[in-house]
Amino acid sequence: MAASLTSSPAETPTARLTDSHGRVIHDLRVSITDRCNYKCVYCRTGEVGAQYPELGIDEYLRLIRLFVSLGITKVRLTGGEPLLRRGLVELVKELASLRTFSGDPLDLALTTNGHLLDGLAAPLKAAGLDRVTVSMDAVDEATFERITRVPGSFRAVLAGVRAAREAGLTPIKINCVLLRGFNDDQVEGFAHFARQEDVVVRFIEFMPLEEGRLWTPEIVVPLREIVERMGRVLPLVELAPREPSETARRYTFADGKGEIGIIAPVTQAFCGACSRVRLTSDGKIRTCLFSQVEHDLYGRMRSGADDEELRHYIFRTIQEKEARHHIGESGFLKPSRSMVHIGG
Ligand code: SAM
Repeated sequence: MAASLTSSPAETPTARLTDSHGRVIHDLRVSITDRCNYKCVYCRTGEVGAQYPELGIDEYLRLIRLFVSLGITKVRLTGGEPLLRRGLVELVKELASLRTFSGDPLDLALTTNGHLLDGLAAPLKAAGLDRVTVSMDAVDEATFERITRVPGSFRAVLAGVRAAREAGLTPIKINCVLLRGFNDDQVEGFAHFARQEDVVVRFIEFMPLEEGRLWTPEIVVPLREIVERMGRVLPLVELAPREPSETARRYTFADGKGEIGIIAPVTQAFCGACSRVRLTSDGKIRTCLFSQVEHDLYGRMRSGADDEELRHYIFRTIQEKEARHHIGESGFLKPSRSMVHIGG
């Protein structure tokens, strides 16, 4: 059922979160810190540290509960680097006990650079985490560390991926952002890596969300090119989408072993099927990665709003979700926060 645009603060929202374009919003991404221990060249300049305050773990929990009571079925914890956040395991434990609108357990995932995952995979699984996505932008050690700018990072992340598999945080997804001239020679290596390590590799087109000024249309390696190049190493077969809001175009190899996904927000935008909303580490709602406005949910909570008032605020904010992004169009404006400070 669509949420009513005329819902007044006196009414209790009973409908699921739906925006004014008819999209049902069921996927919440929560940044729990904007600190990061990597300085990936396409994300950070290396000169900017954490910029925004973090909420207490109990405060994130309260806000996430409100979203879940309004129909969120999937929560992904992210950052910054979420494994740097103290209290993460306790937060996961609390979230794992929540039930969705329809009484099912919440789908609970985490996106990480994997640097600290070796030691945390087992405790996170025991606390109730379902899955992890690990970011890896190269399968070659030297290229990997040229991107992260952290010596020893390749081995740490590989150990993290293997620990996640051992712990059962599966299927493990690997996120790779390809940039022409930096790491686009890694495409073929990732085909073998996906099969050897039994992981789903997902290439993400580079979006203009970096701290510096690196993005140009030419640096983006488009979906079409990735499929062509990967197919030359091992033939690919496209898989049918599992749900309409799925962002990745999925492929398997011709022998059925292994999976590759390509997320193409730049060359094949999927805004019409977007089901996402984001909460930043300082408690602002962002209805789109490219929003020009933020909605201060935490500010209302701090000034004493009760749960019903906060639920109304969330409900009304979602209705303002943007129809689409405008990457590549004249007049495109970069958002005031970069990816690391929004939560990817
Ligand atoms: N630190 C964690 C990690 O490395 O996965 C979580 C935060 S990071 C910002 C989340 C994801 O966003 C990573 O997979 C990263 O590669 C991706 N990312 C960062 N900047 C991006 C950009 N400009 N375009 C596309 N993806 C980007």
